[in-house]
Amino acid sequence: MYDVIVVGGGPAGLSAALVFGRQRRRVLVVDGGRVRNAPADEMHMYLSRDGFPPSELLALGRAELAAYPTVEVRAGSVVTARGAKEDFAVELADGTVERARRLVLATGQVDEPYRIEGLPERFGRGVFHCPFCHGWETTGKTLAVITREPAEAMLALYVADRFSDDVVLCTDGPLDLADGVAKKLGERGVRVVSTPIARLTGEPGALEVHFADGEVLAREAVYHRAPTRQHASLAAGLGCEILPDGTVRVDELQQTTVPGVAAAGDTAKLPAVPDAVTLVSLGAADGVRAAVWMEGDLFRSDLGEI
Ligand SMILES: Cc1cc2nc3c(=O)[nH]c(=O)nc-3n(C[C@H](O)[C@H](O)[C@H](O)COP(=O)(O)OP(=O)(O)OC[C@H]3O[C@@H](n4cnc5c(N)ncnc54)[C@H](O)[C@@H]3O)c2cc1C
Repeated sequence: MYDVIVVGGGPAGLSAALVFGRQRRRVLVVDGGRVRNAPADEMHMYLSRDGFPPSELLALGRAELAAYPTVEVRAGSVVTARGAKEDFAVELADGTVERARRLVLATGQVDEPYRIEGLPERFGRGVFHCPFCHGWETTGKTLAVITREPAEAMLALYVADRFSDDVVLCTDGPLDLADGVAKKLGERGVRVVSTPIARLTGEPGALEVHFADGEVLAREAVYHRAPTRQHASLAAGLGCEILPDGTVRVDELQQTTVPGVAAAGDTAKLPAVPDAVTLVSLGAADGVRAAVWMEGDLFRSDLGEI
C-alpha cells in the first residue's frame, strides 16, 4: 500500500511527488511519457528555465526525485482507478494493480490539430498554439492564424496587436464573423482568407499554406489553437465531477469532489476560471498545492481524534 499514487509524470505530477517524497511518504508515480509540450523544442515562461527543452526539465525533475528513497517513478499507463479514501486501487495496462491511500490525477490534456495535411506534424514546431508560450519568438514575423472557430478571430487580433503587423486569418472555409470583429480585423490590417486549406508545407520559420484554389501563402510562423481533450478518463470513472469543458473540477486546494482524490495541472480547473490556463509553471504549482494539502490530510488521518 502506497501513501499516494500520482498518475502522470509531467510538471504537475513530478512536483506533487517531490512534496510527498520530502515528507517521507511512499509515493508511486505512473507515467505514460507523453507530456503535452513534447513536440516543442523550447518551453517558455518558467522562471530560470526560459527557452529550456521540455524533455530536459522532466529529466532534471526525475533526477531530483531519485534522491528520495520513498519515491518510485514507473513507466506505464493507468487504465482504471477505483476505490475510496484510504483504499484506492489502480490497474496498469500491464495488468499490475497497485493500491494507495490517496490519488493525485495529473494526466494532462491532448491537442488534436485539424486534420489538414501537414498541420498535425508541425504542431509545436513552427505552428504554435499559444502567444504566451511562443509569441515573443514570432515578433515581427509574417503570421497566419488557422481556425474554423469565430471566437478564435480574437487570437488573430491579439497577435496583430502584440507581435506582427502582417497577420492573415485563414478560416479554411466560410466563417461567420460578427460585424464588430470583422471591422476590427480590417482596422488592424488582418486579412481574412476563407478559401479551404489543402495542406501546410515547409520548415519552422519558412512555412507555406497551400489553398484549394492553388494560391500559396508563405508564412514565417502559424498559430493554431488545436481542440483539446483529456488525456485520461480516470477522474470520471472515480465519480469526480467533470466541468462542461471536460476538465476535472477542483477546489482552491486542488481537491476533486471525491474525497482523497486531487487533480493538478492541465487536467484540473477551478469552476470560476473562465478558460483553462495551461502552463508548465501553473501545473507545477498545482502539483505542489495538491500535495501539501493532501499531506496534511494524511497526517490528520494518522493522528486520529484529538
Ligand atoms: C506545443 C505546446 C507547447 C507548449 N509550450 C509551453 C511553454 O512554452 N510554456 C508553458 O508554460 N507551457 C507550454 N505548454 C503547455 C504545457 O505543456 C502544459 O501546461 C504542461 O505540460 C501541463 O503539465 P501537466 O503535468 O498538467 O501535464 P503533461 O505535461 O501533459 O503531463 C501529463 C503526463 O501524464 C501522462 N498520462 C496521461 N494519462 C495517463 C495514464 N492514464 N496513465 C499514466 N500516465 C498518464 C502523460 O503521458 C504525460 O506524461 C505548451 C503546450 C503545447 C501543446
